Amino acid sequence: MTEELRLHWALHEIDEQAVAREHVLAKQPEARREQTARVTAARVALAAIDQRLAESLKRRRVLDREIAAYDVQEKRYEQQMLAVTTQHQMEAMQHEISAVRAKRDVLENEALERLDAEERDTRTRPEKAHALERAEAEAGATVARLDAEAATLKAELLALEARRAETAAALPAATRTRYEKLRAGRAGRAVAAIENSACGGCHRGLPPHALQEARRREKLLMCDGCGRLLMLPPEPGAA
Ligand SMILES: [Zn+2]
Repeated sequence: MTEELRLHWALHEIDEQAVAREHVLAKQPEARREQTARVTAARVALAAIDQRLAESLKRRRVLDREIAAYDVQEKRYEQQMLAVTTQHQMEAMQHEISAVRAKRDVLENEALERLDAEERDTRTRPEKAHALERAEAEAGATVARLDAEAATLKAELLALEARRAETAAALPAATRTRYEKLRAGRAGRAVAAIENSACGGCHRGLPPHALQEARRREKLLMCDGCGRLLMLPPEPGAA
């Protein structure tokens, strides 16, 4: 294997490692957003219960006042009943009283239904509060893990960058420029390994004569599909 090929293979391995790390880093924002979304959802669920409870309590205070007002009205009619003199007046008054009672019954039913709903919400609230605590703790742990992972990956990327610069510096200027341009234009991968008779970058198959040429390990080939430099991995023990 020529020095040019050896250097390009070294660059290929550095770039593959860098691309893999960039790939992991690129997934981080989504993982972070997912944690934020979970905490937000848990917070919204708890806030919804609290809001429902507060509104129900407010409504029940109004109902209690209205029910008390109907009670007063009913008592007043009952007082007036004592003063009626005709059967007709009596029936009219009884009619008024049952109308007031019917209205009060409607409000009392609503108040009871609200009490039931409040009880249900009060029962489920601790569970929701606990879910929020859990989501916050998990998010905290996940973000800390992601931060640590990002710090490691960035340090490794810096080290790879240094190794790449050092390796590329050993190439002739024109060859180095070609490599740098390809790397910039091909998503960080300038050199592809030939795998299963195809380009490891775009998987385009190679014609037999190209494979034969590659086996001589004398010069780099160029992929017709993606334009990357192509080479067979070094033979075991040859590197
Ligand atoms: Zn290709």
